Amino acid sequence: MDFDALFNAELDALKGEGNYRIFAELERRCGAFPRARNHSEGADEVTVWCSNDYLGMGQHPDVVKAMCDTAATCGTGAGGTRNISGTNRHHRELEAELADLHGKEEALLFSSGYVSNWAALSTLGSRLPNAVILSDALNHASMIEGIRHSRADKVIWRHNDAQDLDRKLAAVGPDRPKIVAFESVYSMDGDIAPIAEILDVAEKHGAMTYIDEVHAVGMYGPRGGGVAEREGLMDRITLIEGTLGKAYGCFGGYITGSKALCDFIRSFASGFIFTTALPPAVAAAARVSIRHLKDSEIERAQHRNRVARLRARLDAEGIPHMPNPSHIIPVMIGDPVKCRMISDILMNDWGIYVQPINYPTVPKGTERLRITPSPLHSDADIDHLVTALSSLWQQCALARAVA
Ligand SMILES: *Cc1c(COP(=O)(O)O)cnc(C)c1O
Repeated sequence: MDFDALFNAELDALKGEGNYRIFAELERRCGAFPRARNHSEGADEVTVWCSNDYLGMGQHPDVVKAMCDTAATCGTGAGGTRNISGTNRHHRELEAELADLHGKEEALLFSSGYVSNWAALSTLGSRLPNAVILSDALNHASMIEGIRHSRADKVIWRHNDAQDLDRKLAAVGPDRPKIVAFESVYSMDGDIAPIAEILDVAEKHGAMTYIDEVHAVGMYGPRGGGVAEREGLMDRITLIEGTLGKAYGCFGGYITGSKALCDFIRSFASGFIFTTALPPAVAAAARVSIRHLKDSEIERAQHRNRVARLRARLDAEGIPHMPNPSHIIPVMIGDPVKCRMISDILMNDWGIYVQPINYPTVPKGTERLRITPSPLHSDADIDHLVTALSSLWQQCALARAVA
């Protein structure tokens, strides 16, 4: 059998839809963020406008130093799974830091945010007898896969709709364990869940709550504990999940909750047990990043300032972007081929890197550029981006928003 022909047929279909993904091969320049060397086609140096290293912590001198120093003292890899020789002092210190961040008894590290969602939800859904998982319609792929893998009954409620959740919870028998799974900041539209309303409903029905704060940790709340911290709701949430790979600029994922909950996941989750622990140097760097953002408001304040400035400049030029209460600025294109083309022109002619966001990351017809300003983008960077977009809007005859 010609397997390559089968693979290529699938790839050709993807290319025909305009949804084939092409990597931009960059080399991030520590100390010069958001600048990066470009090793793919286009300008030699680009300004990155789509990074999830939202605050530039990936190049923070203290974070970089912690990683280098710890690699020098502990070596590179952890050397094993957490159970078999892999647990290092740095893992436990990081877990204590995370538990404190969210005001919980305990935290548990994973290889990534994806793995933490997948492992925690699949374990909860499969190990809690007769459980039902109520999942927001726009939950991240890692949550969906975890729920699917658990084989628990799943009920999807309308996105951010606490009333729909209420109806759907009421329809589940009172004696079944219920898990309400949702996110705080949804990363593609940048909208934020009505957390208090969702908690009211969940508590009314005796459901446990599971929140993904991946796009909010480090970013919101006085100590970077996320939207739930900002709104004073952390203690009402059973499990808070986050990543060390986005605003904290490092790598890895985690859950926090009660001692019993974390011990339960630690003891039963295959995605925790059977994989090598995070490198100690990564754990040490993440801890420094978290500690820094617990004390420092400078990065968050400057970040909000940059987001507001870019929005105002886009408005002035009539470039349509989706209004939302977060730091994510989706500029809607609505066509996969155009979206790719605009992204290519930005890269080749303007030295601006914004990855096109196409299906299946977003629904067909809602293709977009997802722009993420950082505290390190200057006024000149913002002007350059807006000038480029404005020129492209002209060139491609795209609709402008009317003020
Ligand atoms: C990126 C993301 C994850 C996965 O986190 P990683 O640490 O990148 O694996 C989980 N949930 C959401 C909503 C995400 O956007």
